[in-house]
Amino acid sequence: MAQQEDVFKKIVSHCKEYGFVFPSSDIYDGLGAVYDYGQNGVELKNNIKQYWWQSMVLLHENIVGIDAAIFMHPTTWKASGHVDAFNDPLIDNRDSKKRYRADVLIEEQMAKYEDKIQKEIEKAQKRFGDAFDEAQFRATNPRVLENQEKYDNLHKRYQEVMNAEGGIDLEGMKQIILDEGIVCPISGTRNWTDVRQFNLMFKTEMGSTADGASTIYLRPETAQGIFVNYLNVQKTGRMKLPFGIAQIGKAFRNEIVARQFIFRMREFEQMEMQFFIQPGTELDWFAKWKETRMKWHQNLGFGAENYRFHDHDKLAHYANAATDIEFHMPFGFKEVEGIHSRTNFDLSQHAKYSGKKIEYFDPETNESYTPYVIETSIGVDRMFLSIMCHSYEEQLLPDGQIRTVLHLPAALAPVKLAVFPLTKKDGMPEKAQEIINDLRFHFNCKYEEKDQIGKRYRRMDAIGCPYCVTVDQQTLEDNTVTLRDRDTMEQHRVAISELRDIIEDKVSITSLLKKLL
Ligand code: ATP
Repeated sequence: MAQQEDVFKKIVSHCKEYGFVFPSSDIYDGLGAVYDYGQNGVELKNNIKQYWWQSMVLLHENIVGIDAAIFMHPTTWKASGHVDAFNDPLIDNRDSKKRYRADVLIEEQMAKYEDKIQKEIEKAQKRFGDAFDEAQFRATNPRVLENQEKYDNLHKRYQEVMNAEGGIDLEGMKQIILDEGIVCPISGTRNWTDVRQFNLMFKTEMGSTADGASTIYLRPETAQGIFVNYLNVQKTGRMKLPFGIAQIGKAFRNEIVARQFIFRMREFEQMEMQFFIQPGTELDWFAKWKETRMKWHQNLGFGAENYRFHDHDKLAHYANAATDIEFHMPFGFKEVEGIHSRTNFDLSQHAKYSGKKIEYFDPETNESYTPYVIETSIGVDRMFLSIMCHSYEEQLLPDGQIRTVLHLPAALAPVKLAVFPLTKKDGMPEKAQEIINDLRFHFNCKYEEKDQIGKRYRRMDAIGCPYCVTVDQQTLEDNTVTLRDRDTMEQHRVAISELRDIIEDKVSITSLLKKLL
C-alpha cells in the first residue's frame, strides 16, 4: 500500500512538472481542492470530453446535447431536494481536529474486511494452484468466515442507519464508528464528536442588495439544467421517447474532505446524460446503460480487471436503482461514474414547483405521462485521474536507465506527433517545419530542436506523445524519416508522404468510437 501511495505522489508531481495539472492560484500557495489544467492537461481533458460527447451525441440518433447556465433559478434546488437533502454526514476527531465523512469511515472499514478476505484467497490460490476451489474455500476457511461475518454485520447496520426513516440516523452512525473501534488515521484516537449534517452547495448572491438580491447556488450537478430544459428540447427537437439529453459542464460542491488530488474537488466538471423513457421500462434501460457505459470505459484498453460495478447501499432520495462504475486507482477501487434510475422524481418535482405541466404525450398509446429517467453521470476529472494513473510507468530499460512514460491511449494523448530535426543545420529545421505545416491540420504536432534526440524522446514519453519523427541527413536526400513508437521505442524509416496515413487512424477519436459499435 505504501508503495502505491508513493506511486500516486509521483503521478501528482508528474502532472505538475509536465503541464497537466497545477494547484489553482499556485503563486498564492493554491486553494483547497481547486486545480487548473495546464497546456497538456487541457488537451487530454478536451479529448476525454470529445470521446464522451461523440459516443453519446454522434453515435445515438436519439441523444442531443445542450449547454445550460451554471446559475439557475433558486427554486430549482428546492424542487430537486438539494436545499434540504444534499448533505454529507461529518464527524471530527477532537485530538487531530481533522474532519471526516462518517459514511466514508464506515465504508473504509468494510473495505478492510473485504481486503482481508481477498488476501486469504490469494494466499490459498498460490498454495493450491489449479486445484483451488474458491467457493469451497470461502465457505469453510475460518478466517474468511470470521471476516465475512464481520463484514455482513457491519453492512447490515450501515444499510439500516443510511436508510432510516426521516433520513440518515446520525447517532446510529456514530455508534457504529465507536463499536468498530475506528480510529482517526492522524491522531490514532477514538475521541470523536457527534455526527452532523453539512450541506454541500455553495451560495452566492445575484443582484445588489438595494434591489432585493436573491440567494442563488452554484450548481452541484449539471443534471438539473437538463431537467428544466426537458420540455424545450422535446418540443423544439420534436423528440420521441426514448431519447436522451447530454451535457458537459462545471459543478461545484463544498466537499468536507477534499483529498486525493483531482479525485475530489470543490469545482469539477461532469458529463451527464439523462435518458427519458416510458415508466415501467426503467430496469431494462438501467441494465442497458450499465453495459453501454462499461463498454465505453473498457474500450480504452486498460483491462477489464480494473473496473467493477458497485451497487449503492443507500439510494439517493430520487433513485430506485443505482450503481457506480469503479476504477482501480492506486488508492483502491473508486467511483468514476454513477448510473442511476431516477424515476420521474425530478420532472414531477419541477412540475409541482413551477406549476407547469411537464409530460409526454405518447402517440402510440395515446396517453400522457411524466417520463422516467436513467442518468449516466461521469466526472471528467476523475476520468482524467484514472487515465493518468493507469498510463504512468517508470520503466527499467535494458541499459539500467529508467524512463518515465505515459502510455496514454493515442486518441486521448495531448500531442500526437513530435517532429525533431537531428541537428539545427543543413535545412533540417526547415524540413521538420514543413512536415508539421502539412500535418497540423490533421492532428496536434509539436516541434522540438533543443537537446540531444534521446532527451527529446524522453520529454515526449513523459507527456504520452505516441509518435516521434526525426529528420536527418537521409531525409534531405530521399524524403524519408525515422518514426519512433512511444511504447515499443522501435524505430523504422517511412516516407514523409506516408506519415499521415500511418498516424491519423491510430490517433483519431473516430478510431475509438468505431470500436464501440
Ligand atoms: P462521491 O460518493 O465520491 O462523493 P457522488 O456519488 O456524490 O460521489 P455523483 O453525485 O454521482 O457523485 O456525481 C457523478 C460523478 O461526478 C461521480 O461519479 C464523479 O466522477 C464526479 N464527482 C462527484 N463529486 C466530485 C468531486 N467532488 N470532484 C470530482 N468529481 C466529482
